[in-house]
Amino acid sequence: MSVANGRALLATPGPTNIPDRVLQAMMRPAEDLNTRTIVSLTDSILSDLAGIFRTSGRTFLYAANGHGGWEAAVSNVLSRGDKVLVLASGRFALGWGEMAGFMGAEVEMLEGSWRASVDPAAVEERLRRDTRHEIKAVLMVQIDTASGVVNDVKAVRAAIDAAGHPALYMIDGVASLGCMPFEMDGWGVDVAMSASQKGMMTSPGLAFVAANEKAWQAHRTATMRTLYWDWTARSGPQHYMRHCGTPPEHLMFGLRAALDMILEEGLEAVWQRHRLLAGATHAAVAKWAEGQVLSCNIPEPAQRACSVTPILVQGHEPEAIADYTRSACGVTLGSGIGELAGKAFRIAHMGHTNVPMVLGSLSAVEMALQALEVPHGEGGVAAAIAHLAQHTPVPERRQDHAGAH
Ligand SMILES: *Cc1c(COP(=O)(O)O)cnc(C)c1O
Repeated sequence: MSVANGRALLATPGPTNIPDRVLQAMMRPAEDLNTRTIVSLTDSILSDLAGIFRTSGRTFLYAANGHGGWEAAVSNVLSRGDKVLVLASGRFALGWGEMAGFMGAEVEMLEGSWRASVDPAAVEERLRRDTRHEIKAVLMVQIDTASGVVNDVKAVRAAIDAAGHPALYMIDGVASLGCMPFEMDGWGVDVAMSASQKGMMTSPGLAFVAANEKAWQAHRTATMRTLYWDWTARSGPQHYMRHCGTPPEHLMFGLRAALDMILEEGLEAVWQRHRLLAGATHAAVAKWAEGQVLSCNIPEPAQRACSVTPILVQGHEPEAIADYTRSACGVTLGSGIGELAGKAFRIAHMGHTNVPMVLGSLSAVEMALQALEVPHGEGGVAAAIAHLAQHTPVPERRQDHAGAH
């Protein structure tokens, strides 16, 4: 027997939990692809995505996962033979670079660490040496889901400017959009992309790209363009071509509900919620780390992502912990990937998550540590609760909840 039955808890960093409201919004008949409902659905999604990216630029929606979003971003602004500089800080920027390479770009990687953010000074130094401006684009992720690092998008923009370099600045926000501040216009990001299944709380299958005027200028002469991803083709008056075919109606209904939820909660409140839940997770790991086996992959607290926490495990099998939480508790953790494969597990606190969900994940881990006799400091979950109790504003008591009858 186990104590796993009950509502299963998905604590993987993508896909994430889909709210019931989003699931229910998708539960409807298909309809003609040009009804007023579908056309205005497209309009409202594109417009609200611009609000989430914080841009007055153009937004595009694709029936694709994050990898498709990468291809969409690159193909619209680059030409074969263009050089791109990939800022490594884990796995995902490299994946984006590999894709650009496949498409005909010349890819240079700026070496980074799996345990720290991209160093803006190193970016500035590299760009200063590119006196002939051969580098056409700089690619970076805001949160690397494999290492659990958050990169400083604003600081890297400042580094590019300090070097006086004209390259396009392109950001992957798949694991950060709807989780933490992102200011596309305010921070001078030229192209940003993301996807539906992480902070955006929707089924996998939608990718989003946002482009500013500088990106649009690059688009005019780009030769990597292909029809499916093409911004010009998608910007015409014909609704059918805005999706290059049949719109992914059900995913769009789901996304509409997710956007409504984010707007109702307030984007800043959503960011704050993620910060609190991440802080609780870090507080728990800090206690567990006293046993000298577990530790946060990112030592510097300010560089830790608010959406996912990879936890290193020394001398014990991280998969044994994850197997235990899944089989005994009904909690699915993420496994370590890339350089952390076999060395870490990951707890996601991303998207549709609240206190019982995150404390539930942390409790299942703590239970696994006890049951499997993995040395750890006691009181990780208590420390998480203390963090939340200290930092969560006390809500006003509501009449309908105040009575004890
Ligand atoms: C998940 C993820 C991707 C890839 O998204 P897919 O939908 O799996 O293709 C890209 N970048 C980051 C930062 C991610 O977390």
